[in-house]
Amino acid sequence: MTHLMSTVDAAATSAAADPMWYAVAVIVVLAAAGIVLVFRRSGAEDDGPRYEDAAYDPAAAAERARARSEAAAQEAAVETTQAPSPADEAVDAVAEEPKAEAVEEVIDPEVIAREKAALEAERKEAFAAKKEADRRAREERKAQRALEAEQSAQRRADELEAQRAEFEADRRAAYRIGLSKTRSGFLGKIGSLLSGGAAIDDAVMDDLEAILFTSDIGARTADRLLEDLKQRRGSGRLKNADAVFAALREELASIVNLPAPSLFDDLKAGETKVVMLVGVNGVGKTTSMGKLAHRAKQGGHSVLLGAGDTFRAAAVDQLQVWAERTDSPLVRGADQADPSSVLFETVSRGVSDGFDLVLCDTAGRLHTRAELMDELKKMHRVMGKAHEGAPHQVILVLDATIGQNAIAQARTFVDAIPLDGIILTKLDGTARGGVIAGICDELKLPVYYIGVGEAVEDLRAFDPDEFVAALFESFGEQT
Ligand code: GDP
Ligand code: MG
Repeated sequence: MTHLMSTVDAAATSAAADPMWYAVAVIVVLAAAGIVLVFRRSGAEDDGPRYEDAAYDPAAAAERARARSEAAAQEAAVETTQAPSPADEAVDAVAEEPKAEAVEEVIDPEVIAREKAALEAERKEAFAAKKEADRRAREERKAQRALEAEQSAQRRADELEAQRAEFEADRRAAYRIGLSKTRSGFLGKIGSLLSGGAAIDDAVMDDLEAILFTSDIGARTADRLLEDLKQRRGSGRLKNADAVFAALREELASIVNLPAPSLFDDLKAGETKVVMLVGVNGVGKTTSMGKLAHRAKQGGHSVLLGAGDTFRAAAVDQLQVWAERTDSPLVRGADQADPSSVLFETVSRGVSDGFDLVLCDTAGRLHTRAELMDELKKMHRVMGKAHEGAPHQVILVLDATIGQNAIAQARTFVDAIPLDGIILTKLDGTARGGVIAGICDELKLPVYYIGVGEAVEDLRAFDPDEFVAALFESFGEQT
């Protein structure tokens, strides 16, 4: 301060000599005074006595410095515990980036290559592992599918086998039922006659003759069987009951063993086959026609039905029900329409619409039998005009329950129109199966099917061997 005053004094002394210097001196003095003032003010803001102050205490100053540094440290701590804002992070990242680059730059290229190779190997390994896992999964799925296919094929085979077994059992049952009457009236009676083990003498032969001629097989067949037995006896081959049954079995097998192709075996797509069903009233023509339609449809064939029995309105309605049940179209004329015209229309439509099979129903009763036969002949002729060769097959439907009368009935039809085969109905219940032998023997007509009930599936293909086996099997059960 003393030094400052002397400077001011010196300026004042020089100013006395020159007014300009005086002005300069005043400005300098004022400036100096301002600096001093500012300096003093900033010093006054300090929280303790200053170094120049007489009251300055070094220990207290040290204490204050420590307190200040502590406060600063606390402030810094608070700042670091606060979560950095995204902006701060970005700034940090930018700040750190050059550092990372700097580090990479210094890494040895060999190390980088090794790391890359290791990474590559790792990727390859992972890829191979995934590929292997995929392959295993695919193989497992394939094996699973194969197993499922095998299981379902096995199930299907089992089902078919069960169905076949059921069908066979049904068929045998049908024959047995049909033969039960025959058993008591024919083979059953023979069994009773021979059960005592008696020798086959003349008296036994007479009884055998009586049994055969009163049975359902018909006189002609009875005669044939008896002649055969006599021949065997003459040559010493008929010693006991077993020999008699063996002879009867052999002869009956040869009688019924006529070739009987299925009605559907020769069906060809695009070639319409026409089948006509004939027979007296109530034997089961309409019912058998429905069953046949069902079988043909099951075999994948298209079927058209023709209502040729126009004499009874109920007959047409009955056929309409079968048409609906088997999902086969029906051609029907007006009430009392000429049956030949209805069947002409049926066959024409069958051909033009490409049906595989046309089934034609016919009437079974007119005022007289001669009238019925004339009508059938006319229908037969007219069908041939609608389609070359039609009807391709004529099936006579016979009711087994009327026994020998069925054979007599068959004869009247044979005389009127050419017949191809027989459907023998009602072999269930009160049937007389032995009539089959008589029909086959006398008419030389094969039995295509047998009816064993009123339901749509109650129609069985006739199997001659099965028939004979069933005939003697059921007899065997009784003796
Ligand atoms: P259609 O006059 O020749 O046409 O004879 P239907 O078809 O009308 O049949 C006359 C009756 O015999 C009906 O009640 C049929 O249900 C019945 N029927 C037909 N076939 C069989 C069969 O195989 N077994 C039995 N139990 N009944 C039959
Ligand atoms: Mg009918």
